[in-house]
Amino acid sequence: MPSVKNPYEAVIVGAGIAGAAIAKALKNNNLNNFLVVDKGLGPATGTSAHGHALCHPYIGRGASRLQRLTFLAFKEARDVWGKHWCGHGVFHLPRTQEGFTKQIMSERLLSQGFNFDMAMPMDQAEANEKIGVQSGGTFFPEGGWVNLEQACHEVFDEMAPERKLWATKLRRIEKVDGQWMLWDDQDQLIASTERVFLANGLGVKDLAESIDISLPLKPVRGQLSKFRFSKQSTWAQHLPRYALSGKVYCLTPEEKGGEFEWVVGSSYDEEVDDLNVWDSSHAENKALIKEMLNQDLHDDELKVKDAFVGVRCVASDRLPIMGPVKSQPGLYILTSLGSRGVMWSALASQMFTEHLAYEKNHSAFLDARFFAGARLAAAGLDSVLAEALLPARFLAGVSNSKPILPSA
Ligand SMILES: Cc1cc2nc3c(=O)[nH]c(=O)nc-3n(C[C@H](O)[C@H](O)[C@H](O)COP(=O)(O)OP(=O)(O)OC[C@H]3O[C@@H](n4cnc5c(N)ncnc54)[C@H](O)[C@@H]3O)c2cc1C
Repeated sequence: MPSVKNPYEAVIVGAGIAGAAIAKALKNNNLNNFLVVDKGLGPATGTSAHGHALCHPYIGRGASRLQRLTFLAFKEARDVWGKHWCGHGVFHLPRTQEGFTKQIMSERLLSQGFNFDMAMPMDQAEANEKIGVQSGGTFFPEGGWVNLEQACHEVFDEMAPERKLWATKLRRIEKVDGQWMLWDDQDQLIASTERVFLANGLGVKDLAESIDISLPLKPVRGQLSKFRFSKQSTWAQHLPRYALSGKVYCLTPEEKGGEFEWVVGSSYDEEVDDLNVWDSSHAENKALIKEMLNQDLHDDELKVKDAFVGVRCVASDRLPIMGPVKSQPGLYILTSLGSRGVMWSALASQMFTEHLAYEKNHSAFLDARFFAGARLAAAGLDSVLAEALLPARFLAGVSNSKPILPSA
């Protein structure tokens, strides 16, 4: 049992992809005396038990905060999780073909900072030839998917056993004499530390509430379907050559045991945290992918083989929450990664690396700002974007902790 007399330099609560991103940032700063605590029996037992998390930048109509942040985060994702990158391109289909032309999309992409090596607009004929789909869209040659579970294992498996506390659910935290104290659900003190990182998905809500901080987090259930279909089926006549994203997403079908296996998802059920597999979600995934492929395909030929169900954590403004907590020196949050766990965790890892370096160099906590560092600042991460990520956006004066619920 860790001793309160020998505090850790840091404690990470949560061993999903958010916790793994923070562990990388700590190691980058030689802060190696840290503990990871998770209520699961090992790394990635929550939403990050996900083998196929797709990743490409978001393209909206204008240069919104979301568009600008994903533009930056996508590049970081290639660097931070590159070892676990799969696939060689993602084709994005707009929700409707109405109003889509290659010309309009080209202008939009250029205005948002893309060049045509990063994002290639295609009309229907080009998409048919290169991708194998009957709709125009945008091809991201560097897009792909990441095995989140594997990425978490890579980070946590190499840590010494005494720095990992599994099957331990934290119930509350408190600052006592300049140290953060952490208690489990049996009300046992399990650690003390200078720095605590809340990276435990929806569980951040309860732990933050234990120090009177209220965060507008909610669950969004998602189900990914693994389908199978025979080589003689109509589906086998229209195989996409790349991963697709749009109303749902799919990877490239894989040939296995004389048939094809195909990952398709994901359903999006707000305010639901049921981890059971739903037939209705498989049906929804099937209907949407059929709509996206826009071909004469027979429903009954697509059989369910397997499923992944998880619960995303989403904030009311749909952006991630990351950074230090104002007026709580040594407390940091990384949660609300929503459906973009790959990109947001990577951006957070790089920002926390810079932020912790700054704090170490100045021997002081910097709780009012999230320090992005010169490289990310030069890439376009300005203070408006960094502030859009901070927990402080939900705190109207930490003394009364009244949440502000910004519009999307
Ligand atoms: C169906 C589906 C499809 C998705 N597809 C994509 C995709 O294509 N691309 C993409 O980028 N993202 C995708 N995502 C999102 C991505 O999976 C998540 O954003 C990411 O896994 C969240 O990681 P996390 O570390 O924040 O949370 P988790 O992985 O849930 O980690 C939180 C950890 O905290 C632990 N914990 C919680 N409370 C406590 C406590 N009190 N004490 C101790 N431990 C605690 C849990 O056991 C858990 O291990 C998808 C999600 C779903 C559900």
